[in-house]
Amino acid sequence: MNAQSSNVKVSNAQSSNVPSDAPYMKAQRTEGGALLLDGKAVAARVRAQVAQRAASFAERHGRRPGLAVIQVGEDPASSVYVRNKRKASFEAGIESFAHDLPAASSEGQILALVHALNHDERVDGILVQLPLPKGVNADRVMDAVDPAKDVDGFHPANTGLLAQKRPRLRPCTPFGVIRLAQEYGIGLTGLRATVVGASNIVGRPMALELLLARATVTVCHTGTRDLRAEVERAEVLVAAVGKAGFIPGEWVRPGTAVFDVGINRTSDGRLVGDVEFAAAAARAAWITPVPGGLGPMTIAMLLSNTVDAAYLRAGTAA
Ligand code: NAD
Repeated sequence: MNAQSSNVKVSNAQSSNVPSDAPYMKAQRTEGGALLLDGKAVAARVRAQVAQRAASFAERHGRRPGLAVIQVGEDPASSVYVRNKRKASFEAGIESFAHDLPAASSEGQILALVHALNHDERVDGILVQLPLPKGVNADRVMDAVDPAKDVDGFHPANTGLLAQKRPRLRPCTPFGVIRLAQEYGIGLTGLRATVVGASNIVGRPMALELLLARATVTVCHTGTRDLRAEVERAEVLVAAVGKAGFIPGEWVRPGTAVFDVGINRTSDGRLVGDVEFAAAAARAAWITPVPGGLGPMTIAMLLSNTVDAAYLRAGTAA
């Protein structure tokens, strides 16, 4: 089952976020039949646009957009993410400021660094890599970030603006889902969208993004009574649970667009998503791979947010 019989419309209308001269991405078909939403390829396109905008900013303002990345301790997974973000920033012409604090840092020390970065004119974006060590209140740290520099989009001010249909800096992974859909010309208006997972960083802002895109949204979580029934209704499915293969492919409605945010390592060392890929790809119209789906998109949207923040702070148009 694939796109022809799907309710998921491939739109010809350009969306406001996609530059008007950009043709839609051409999709490859998976073995199962669904079209592949290639996050790696779209992220490369987004990053090339970010690099152009960063170069124009540097020309006009005499400095490059700046991103400060704070890592506390040496969690191995966090170190990989942080390294990738710094490398991607450099390649996009964004100045990267590394702040590696020892694991034993107090909340007060972390807050003092955040305050200093809030007042540093070279810094347009501040990213605090999660998780923070036990004993540090992550909410207090995130709330201390100047909302104008909150390139993760986690500050209540930015989540609130998204909830009120006037988004400013938007959480990177959900924004990445929307951008991926736009780049393939997938129209979300009117579709029944189900988000599985309700965290502050993925599930909840994802629901707000889908609502903004005019989908009819259901959010599932550990309190959901009949998850299978909710998933089976979905014409757009976003999985953000954090459990390998948690959503069986047979639950996927024929013709659905599946966005798998989950990144899980199996006992034999492979990275897999929250959705059973092969079985889902035999039913879906569109599907993201893991890895190579929302992972690269998340980093690309972080860079895009950083350049947006630089222009917003400078009070000039991109
Ligand atoms: P989280 O643990 O904070 O939230 C998981 C959510 O899943 C919760 O809301 C919970 O209610 C729900 N859930 C758990 N078990 C459930 C069940 N049995 N039935 C229904 N709902 C259930 O996780 P998170 O931070 O939102 O991340 C989710 C996944 O996405 C993880 O695999 C994470 O690694 C991945 N992730 C990927 C990216 C990316 O760049 N692609 C970014 C962030 C998170």
